Amino acid sequence: MLDTKLLEIDDPEAQSDAVDQAAQLLCRGGLVAIPTETVYGLGANALDPQAVKQIYEAKGRPQDNPLIIHIADVEDAKKYAKDIPPEYYELCRRFSPGPLTVILKKQDCIPKETSGGLDTVAIRIPSHPVARAIIRRAQVPIAAPSANLSGKPSPTTAQHCIDDLWGRVDAIVDSGPCSVGVESTVLSLAEEKPILLRPGAITPEQLSEVLGELVIHQAVTGELKQGVKAVSPGMKYKHYSPKAQVTILDGTSEEYIRYVNSHNAPGVYALCFEEDASELRVPYILWGRGEDDGVQAHRLFAALRELDEKEAVQVYARCPSKKGVGLAVYNRLIRAAGFDEREISDEKASR
Ligand code: AMP
Ligand code: MG
Repeated sequence: MLDTKLLEIDDPEAQSDAVDQAAQLLCRGGLVAIPTETVYGLGANALDPQAVKQIYEAKGRPQDNPLIIHIADVEDAKKYAKDIPPEYYELCRRFSPGPLTVILKKQDCIPKETSGGLDTVAIRIPSHPVARAIIRRAQVPIAAPSANLSGKPSPTTAQHCIDDLWGRVDAIVDSGPCSVGVESTVLSLAEEKPILLRPGAITPEQLSEVLGELVIHQAVTGELKQGVKAVSPGMKYKHYSPKAQVTILDGTSEEYIRYVNSHNAPGVYALCFEEDASELRVPYILWGRGEDDGVQAHRLFAALRELDEKEAVQVYARCPSKKGVGLAVYNRLIRAAGFDEREISDEKASR
């Protein structure tokens, strides 16, 4: 058991001892959970193989699943990546700092422990002021996957990190809830064409404005098919599995309400839009209005953890829109559901 420190930061913009302590621990090869705008990350010095190995141990993460490195300034990208195409810089001008990770060919200084044995590296420039301050203070790139135990929903508050990692890491920096709530968009510029590997708050529509053509990997909207290359090793793993069976119901508000009410039983919960709630006769968790994909993203992982705490057995989730940030919400939800999605529209069901 490690003696985990809780480092609290009330004003993210202010200089703080907590930032200094976090940076020092990282420089000494320690593990520190840090806030970012997407989810909390479990940070270690990305250039230190021993430190990085501990990330995999603390999380129980498969060793072939590479880590995203976090830098504060776009000028640093060339220290860790090579053959960087001009599109990278165009994307950075538009979306960095922010929730966009780009995969590029790696420089030799990135150890195989960080890249999962691949010859590429995933780079992100976070916008969260605390994350940026810690990276700048540490003066090294920070490898950071989500700061949860593998298989649990990603943490969007320091309490989620405490629940999963207390005693397994050197420190947890608490700077309040994450604003975005789902992990970064992952885009590869290391394949023949730009390819979206994981949707996030930077949407395919936005990326296409800069890149023109954008390939969306098959696993973004479904289970990785046999024979399709897992360009991103993370695609092979079932993510975010809550203890309950989650089922996604695709239909109108009325169809959803009717279906859920007729499947009422002990342990049944609804993960519903605000407009569905008043007529539901089962306990529910609200995750924003149907059109509020940003609110749904912000609340999804906390809602999945809350359902576990309530010991939900079966959760019926209303299907989010697959457009904009809704695609990221849908991508996380189908994984939480183990790809159990049902069409409940009367019209389509009777065809
Ligand atoms: P997480 O660390 O939980 O946010 O997940 C990071 C995601 O990015 C995982 O799905 C990884 O497989 C993926 N990833 C990280 N580095 C690379 C890389 N070099 N090539 C392809 N995918 C990557
Ligand atoms: Mg993760």
